[in-house]
Amino acid sequence: MKTPDPTEFRHALSRFTTGVTVLTAAEADGTVAGMTANSFTSVSLAPPTILVSVMQGRTLKAIEAAGMFVVNVLGAGAERISGHFAGKPVPGWTPDFAAFGNYVGLDGALANFACRVQRRVEVNDHVLLIAEVEHCHACEADPLVFYGSRYRRLAA
Ligand SMILES: Cc1cc2nc3c(=O)[nH]c(=O)nc-3n(C[C@H](O)[C@H](O)[C@H](O)COP(=O)(O)OP(=O)(O)OC[C@H]3O[C@@H](n4cnc5c(N)ncnc54)[C@H](O)[C@@H]3O)c2cc1C
Repeated sequence: MKTPDPTEFRHALSRFTTGVTVLTAAEADGTVAGMTANSFTSVSLAPPTILVSVMQGRTLKAIEAAGMFVVNVLGAGAERISGHFAGKPVPGWTPDFAAFGNYVGLDGALANFACRVQRRVEVNDHVLLIAEVEHCHACEADPLVFYGSRYRRLAA
């Protein structure tokens, strides 16, 4: 058996179905940084703890400076929002951000998790952020699904 090359690895990973989130964090000047992430997973229930794997970039800088961020779970139909926060900006579109106490998240998300960073672990070009959830909020609606490198919807 040989070590997979990056294409094989990505292809095999793409067989794992996930939801899609946007991570948001306030920057020092009050603007909000956001990025699409599907590496979100639960870690423990008590205390409520989650993990995300985040590449070096604007949003990671904002999260690390603030020590806090929001995981916003996208609903069905939010493909363009996901693309927007993954480096394919939607011309003329401005995101609706909402305050959750001291946190800032995306308005209208399927769920929001307001998280305080507990631990960071550097792994290659990513940082694993392990964070405690201080507040969460959820709606009843269908999710945006990511499988096979494409956005999908749940079958009826
Ligand atoms: C389905 C999917 C899952 C992904 N999962 C992960 C993952 O788990 N981990 C990971 O590291 N990467 C992941 N990525 C890649 C990641 O989303 C991109 O590399 C992203 O561009 C990194 O964001 P950044 O903040 O570092 O940089 P930037 O590219 O600077 O910011 C992201 C984008 O968001 C827009 N934006 C940010 N803030 C605002 C604002 N206030 N108003 C308007 N627009 C704004 C910017 O215009 C920019 O296009 C994923 C991408 C996709 C499509």
